[in-house]
Amino acid sequence: MFVSIADNLSEIEKKLTYAAEKSGRKRSDILLLAVSKTIDVPHIKQAVELGCKELGENRVQEIMAKYDELPGVKWHLIGHLQTNKVKYIVDKVALIHSVDSLKLGEEISKRCAAAGRVMDILVEVNMAGEESKSGVSPENAKQLCRELSALSNICIKGLMTVAPYDPVPENNRVYFKQMKKLFDDIKAENYPNTDMQHLSMGMTNDYEVAVEEGADIVRIGTGIFGARDYSK
Ligand SMILES: *Cc1c(COP(=O)(O)O)cnc(C)c1O
Repeated sequence: MFVSIADNLSEIEKKLTYAAEKSGRKRSDILLLAVSKTIDVPHIKQAVELGCKELGENRVQEIMAKYDELPGVKWHLIGHLQTNKVKYIVDKVALIHSVDSLKLGEEISKRCAAAGRVMDILVEVNMAGEESKSGVSPENAKQLCRELSALSNICIKGLMTVAPYDPVPENNRVYFKQMKKLFDDIKAENYPNTDMQHLSMGMTNDYEVAVEEGADIVRIGTGIFGARDYSK
């Protein structure tokens, strides 16, 4: 099937602009993170040339495989991260969206101390309590942030969630609202090593609702590149 990345992006731009306005913000307040998992480098390059300078991947191996071929982009790790893979990406990614345990935070901080850098991270929250998903429970999110904030080589930049897939995106509004509340609550604690700026929520199916409720990073794959082909 032929997919025009340019047409897809201009459609998303319109919707993002409108949703940002509805929440009293501007399009430029929102980061469109292009999720390039399973997409080949030539197609990703098209998106980069059309302005997508920040890319999200959910597997460490895929970032490593594409890294040298796409110079000048900012990489975000958005998928579950195993502690034994942290060492491969500390020098490659700008933001890790998926920190959901103290153990993982400790490993990131340790590896970053050795590399002489501080890693920006988001704490992933499993807001709907889906068993199949990673993320800390909303009840334990604040406690985890407090524990993570003792680590010198990470900086907690906000929260991330993957909402359930729902054909009616409006049904996810409740989770996005709860995320915003949790975000404000944690921000008010003024923990050390914490600079609450980002709320990463909303994907192809529900990003407009997420932005209306306060998301400032939306992670969009299918909406830009078309349906993923996992058979390759
Ligand atoms: C794949 C993925 C996305 C993008 O999903 P689409 O529905 O294709 O936009 C966003 N976030 C995470 C964590 C993902 O794994």
